[in-house]
Amino acid sequence: MAKLSVKKGDRVKVIAGKERGKSGKVLKTLPSKDRVVVEGLHMIKVASKKTQTNPQGGIIDREGTVHVSNVTVVCPTCDGPAKVKNRRTEDGQRIRYCGRCDTDLDKE
Ligand SMILES: [Zn+2]
Repeated sequence: MAKLSVKKGDRVKVIAGKERGKSGKVLKTLPSKDRVVVEGLHMIKVASKKTQTNPQGGIIDREGTVHVSNVTVVCPTCDGPAKVKNRRTEDGQRIRYCGRCDTDLDKE
């Protein structure tokens, strides 16, 4: 499985395309496609079937996918694009941190 630099739960900012400058939280990653789903971004209209919560069915708005190259991880400390770097912890885990301010970007 390909490794994405962006992970679920990350706050990201759009750096290309018509929604450039907007930010949101990553809801889902699609590593095989190099794409991510970001909360409230790239809304698309999809036809939905009739369900209990939506008895009429019809067209609903849903988040579409964004290519990872169009977003950048936002560092909570820098309050801007993180300079994402990787390091290994003592037990061999790979964690990401911001190269500018040294903030750990992988705290859950
Ligand atoms: Zn930072």
